[in-house]
Amino acid sequence: MPILNGDSMAGSEPILPKSKFMDFSQALDVLKNEYPERDGIDVKTLVDSQKNGGLTYNDFLILPGYIGFPASAVTLETPVTKRISLKSPFISSPMDTVTEHNMAIHMALLGGLGVVHHNCSAEEQAEMVRKVKRFENGFILDPIVISPTTTVGEAKALKEKWGFGGFPVTEDGKLRSKLVGIITPRDIQFHSDLDDPVTAVMSTDLVTARTGIDLLEANSILSKSKKGKLPIVDEQGNLVSLLSRSDLMKNLHYPLASKLPHSKQLISAAAIGTRPDDKIRLQKLVDAGLDIVILDSSQGNSIFQIEMIKYIKETHPALDVIGGNVVTREQAAALIAAGVDGLRIGMGSGSACITQEVMAVGRPQAASVFNVTSFAARFGVPCIADGGIQNVGHIVKGLALGASTVMMGGLLAGTTESPGEYYVSHEGKLVKAYRGMGSIDAMEDKKAGAGTNKDAKASNAGTARYFSEGDRLLVAQGVSGSVLDRGSITKFVPYLMAGVQHSLQDIGAKSLSELRQGVVDGKVRFELRTASAQVEGNVHGLHSFDKKLYS
Ligand code: GDP
Ligand code: 5GP
Repeated sequence: MPILNGDSMAGSEPILPKSKFMDFSQALDVLKNEYPERDGIDVKTLVDSQKNGGLTYNDFLILPGYIGFPASAVTLETPVTKRISLKSPFISSPMDTVTEHNMAIHMALLGGLGVVHHNCSAEEQAEMVRKVKRFENGFILDPIVISPTTTVGEAKALKEKWGFGGFPVTEDGKLRSKLVGIITPRDIQFHSDLDDPVTAVMSTDLVTARTGIDLLEANSILSKSKKGKLPIVDEQGNLVSLLSRSDLMKNLHYPLASKLPHSKQLISAAAIGTRPDDKIRLQKLVDAGLDIVILDSSQGNSIFQIEMIKYIKETHPALDVIGGNVVTREQAAALIAAGVDGLRIGMGSGSACITQEVMAVGRPQAASVFNVTSFAARFGVPCIADGGIQNVGHIVKGLALGASTVMMGGLLAGTTESPGEYYVSHEGKLVKAYRGMGSIDAMEDKKAGAGTNKDAKASNAGTARYFSEGDRLLVAQGVSGSVLDRGSITKFVPYLMAGVQHSLQDIGAKSLSELRQGVVDGKVRFELRTASAQVEGNVHGLHSFDKKLYS
């Protein structure tokens, strides 16, 4: 048996006499009276300690606090602009390998926001915004519709092509035309005469519902009717949308969905440039229902952006404008003075960026986030920490340094909801393409478009984030590559969310605003991380391991 300090055993003296120790019941008083400074350092000391080096997310840790609540009780509601708040702090980046309508819809359903990219024509971008605004949980707004002259053979081919076989039949074979019947896979499965028109097999005893019905009511009609599909029609009996029984259960469960108060529609956001053509693009986006516009520039403090902010605030006062990117107080002040509703922070810290290497301009991300947010907070302007997020820890650090939300590109590019197809890399791994918007690939796509059609020319301001129209030579500020498959964001974002909740629980903060206040008051403490501390804090000494992040 070991001899403990203060213990005595027959024939042996304790190593330290018991009288050397204080009574344990005094521990908290001793702490309070004799240690006026909390353990660790406050945020200002943290950032100042790296004044000559520039702080990154990996350079520090947050010290644990006191846990008096379950992780599930941690709320992540946070503002994204002065007027609009989200239930979770996650935003997907306006990049053509990250956010089109599918990503934007799912990010919003999960409580975050997807910013639709502008490396496409103004019409294409407006159509994506329209799809986000028109999206209704469970309702298929653009169902495949067939006409009475479609043959059974053609319907079978459509089933092969789309993977589903329930098709509404309308008078002229289009949406918003009179509904005359519906065919289901079972109607055509054993029908051998492929040349027969679908009218020979379709059901005409239809159970339908009127447009405007909500999901709960529609659910109850579907349950009672025992049918697989519920066509939604207008007063004249024209088909407007379709509801599928198989979608009902999964679609009822998005309690965090990002919506404006009193609106049933998802919040939509899109990026534009700051050239004159972008004013025309913006009008199309506003007509499609845009709520938030992000001015996409790698160096936001420019005369173009300042004038654009003033123009938007004057012509579209209901629209919220996020300016950027900025990394210094001075840049932030100029855009705040021009009237922005939010700021986007980051220059050269993105995973596909080479700006810092090529332009010698930029700033380590943690330093940028603290310096900009601590200034912007004085004016009530929320900030997005954009780029360099590789894991849940980085998200929490960005938020602790004052950001209201974080924007991710590379981390979301490998999900099912991002644009593009998966392919197998030469090492045999399933990957998706991911490229910087300032990569030669992305800029050339844009330039090629500019020459071929008028509309694409209007859209050319897109990658003007990284080149000017007069440029004879493109200087890359990004690379193009691939990222590993991450599955669907319907699993990945809840994982990020649960991770942030657990982290805040460790810190002892029950909400993001409590975290921010704790940092400002000096109650949330930090510790610098030397190079060897970073090695210690990562997996080490194992021969091999499998880094599975969630199940
Ligand atoms: P079906 O009975 O063969 O039509 O297939 P299910 O109803 O079981 O599943 C169809 C799935 O495809 C659902 O998740 C639908 O939301 C989806 N879907 C997407 N677009 C359409 C469409 O235009 N028509 C139909 N029927 N389903 C669609
Ligand atoms: P990630 O999440 O991949 O680390 O960073 C995404 C962010 O990188 C974007 O939101 C955007 O701010 C920035 N970004 C995207 N493309 C480029 C590029 O080509 N060059 C630079 N410098 N930044 C880029």
